[in-house]
Amino acid sequence: MAASDSQGGTTTVRGPRASRSTRWRAAVLVLVHLLAAIHIAHWMSTGRTVSPLEPSEAMEFAKYSVVNAGLIFFAITILSTLVLGRWFCGWACHLVALQDLSRAFLIRIGLRPRPLRSRWMALMPIVAAGYMFLWPVIYRVWIGDPFEVSGVEMTREGFWDTFPAWWPAVFTFVLCGFVAVYFLGAKGFCTYACPYGAVFGLADRLSPGRIRVTEDCVQCGHCTATCTSNVDISREVHDYGMVVDPGCMKCMDCVSVCPENALHFGLGKPALLARKREDARPPRPRLPLVEEATAALAFSFGYFAIRGFYQERGFLLSVGIAAVFAFLVLTVVRLVRRRDVKIPGAVLKEGGKLRPLAVVLGGGTLVLSASAVPFGLVPEVNTWRANRAWAELEDARARWFEPGRASLSEAELASADRLLESAGTIRARSGVRSLQNTMRLAWGSLFVGDIQSFEQRLSEALLFGRAGVGLKTLAADQMRARGDLPRAEAAYRAVLDEVPEHVPAVIRLAELLGQSERLEDAQEVVEAGLLVAPDSPPLLAQRGTFRLIAGDPDGAVEDLRAAIDLNPEFIEARIRLSELFAQSQRLEEAREVIEGGLAVLPDAPPLVAQRGVLRLFGGDPDGAVEDLRSALALNPGLTSVRDRLWRVLMELDRGQESARVIRDGLLLDGASVVLRAHLAQVLFMTGDRDGAAAEARRLAAEAGNNAALLQVAREVLRASGFAAEADQIVPQSVR
Ligand code: SF4
Ligand code: SF4
Repeated sequence: MAASDSQGGTTTVRGPRASRSTRWRAAVLVLVHLLAAIHIAHWMSTGRTVSPLEPSEAMEFAKYSVVNAGLIFFAITILSTLVLGRWFCGWACHLVALQDLSRAFLIRIGLRPRPLRSRWMALMPIVAAGYMFLWPVIYRVWIGDPFEVSGVEMTREGFWDTFPAWWPAVFTFVLCGFVAVYFLGAKGFCTYACPYGAVFGLADRLSPGRIRVTEDCVQCGHCTATCTSNVDISREVHDYGMVVDPGCMKCMDCVSVCPENALHFGLGKPALLARKREDARPPRPRLPLVEEATAALAFSFGYFAIRGFYQERGFLLSVGIAAVFAFLVLTVVRLVRRRDVKIPGAVLKEGGKLRPLAVVLGGGTLVLSASAVPFGLVPEVNTWRANRAWAELEDARARWFEPGRASLSEAELASADRLLESAGTIRARSGVRSLQNTMRLAWGSLFVGDIQSFEQRLSEALLFGRAGVGLKTLAADQMRARGDLPRAEAAYRAVLDEVPEHVPAVIRLAELLGQSERLEDAQEVVEAGLLVAPDSPPLLAQRGTFRLIAGDPDGAVEDLRAAIDLNPEFIEARIRLSELFAQSQRLEEAREVIEGGLAVLPDAPPLVAQRGVLRLFGGDPDGAVEDLRSALALNPGLTSVRDRLWRVLMELDRGQESARVIRDGLLLDGASVVLRAHLAQVLFMTGDRDGAAAEARRLAAEAGNNAALLQVAREVLRASGFAAEADQIVPQSVR
């Protein structure tokens, strides 16, 4: 470059020399990638390796108190940052390596990236870090979580489980590298998207290790021109005697290029305590407020839209796309507000005239923004709704496959409808079919009784290839429910080959074998389960049940007691043990077991009902009625309790009350032909012949081909004086 000197002659002004530290940094980054490749190769060859050394893994601790290698790695890098400053990003981060490569490539093809200097958007990584690491902790404090370490996972078999599939990985590579660098600058992703960089940046403010200056600085600006992190070095070293910008990654390029050797890395006062000189230089121009606001709003809009469209929750990809989208919207606003607008390698507007590329870019951005509403924001809003409905159905899911479970309440059925509606909208609008949404559709269908859709969605979910054992157990449950016992058995065994301690699969396989009268096989399965999960209350209770069937009541009592000691709220075990005692005429012990349960769970309907049954055995029918009524009031869906109650009332000669109990049941489940048959019989026995005949006629119309129920209808009609009518009742298939 040539410039005039004060004497009117010309001198040659050289640009900054090339950084010698770049080569060192490149070598270290290559080494880091080699180590990562060795880590992956170790996992591929042995099937298990150290859990991923990724800061994102620390979320497992924030959410579930699980300690893993990623958490320890992140903690060590933060601690080292507190001493050495933000070194990790420049010397060990694969995304910085990618951005460096992308920048070099773009410069080679004549496109020199220029940094966007938005202060508001630079806050987004801090928000992202708060969302990832702080929000789960706040939420857990809010719900009173005790914060005990729930697991240690230093090694992992499913190494890739927390990483994206290949195509989002390639897309992230292109987006966070080339696209972000082109639009946002050499460290565009670090500045506007990276949550880990935000954490390191905060630690950097406290660090004594910084780039510092001597008195030799002549303010030539070579350092600033070299810095790819967009740090205003010459001004900062002039104003503070050190680099205070937390974006500095200690890459040492500035130290290397300084012609006066005025810069060095040294320990001293941290940035937080740095004081500005009185003759400080003015900072670089900032974005006007309207442009700052535009960028921040567009970022937020883009982030939620991409989350809605791309359901697989690729967090880094979403923030990267949002940052690029914000730049595009900002460019459109600039096209409106400014006379001249440029992007790297292209002029969009000059002297107030738009170039064709501006029309293409502006039009494309507007189309993108308009499509983001139906295909991004609508699915995202529905994701929130689906999350809520899913949480409301947690209890229903937990008890779904329990024997004798209560049917879904009206509120739960309404939640299931909302889940289906929201998940259906997500499926129709978003661009990706996620495992989570497919599973929700499957559960929703199951809850509303649409078994065909349930099975279809379940098969789809299994195709994702990373279905957990819970999902595979659910698929096996469904095969069992359909009566396909050999396939169900194979499916349960496959789950147990994968995770031998998966108790629900052990229990269900044992039940299935018991159902097939293969008691020895069933016992073997439970014993194998107890070898890997010796303190599992459901397994102990199951072994107790098998011991009872095998004629060993003492062994059964021992196991059921052990299960209850381990889990005093284990209702089913308490009921089984009390029944066992009652059958052996040990009523006092039976009562003790139930009273013990009621002491910890006073409103548990099955326990209240069982106390009623024991009262009946003990000769206190009024007490029994009281308890059975209380249990039904607590859960009107308990059909076995309703059945017991109306029968007890009949035995007590309280026929009208008995009929009322059945009618209440029919109000809940009007399609129950069994209840209707009982009602017809009870009405007949109480002398209400017309009422009995009316119910018998309805029963005949609704019972289809059920011979036993049709026979009840015939008998009630005949006994009520309608013999001719009774003779005309025939099965539906004959009508
Ligand atoms: S630190 Fe070195 S490169 Fe930077 S302005 Fe001063 S003399 Fe120039
Ligand atoms: S200020 Fe210097 S050390 Fe820090 S990122 Fe910029 S060039 Fe690298």
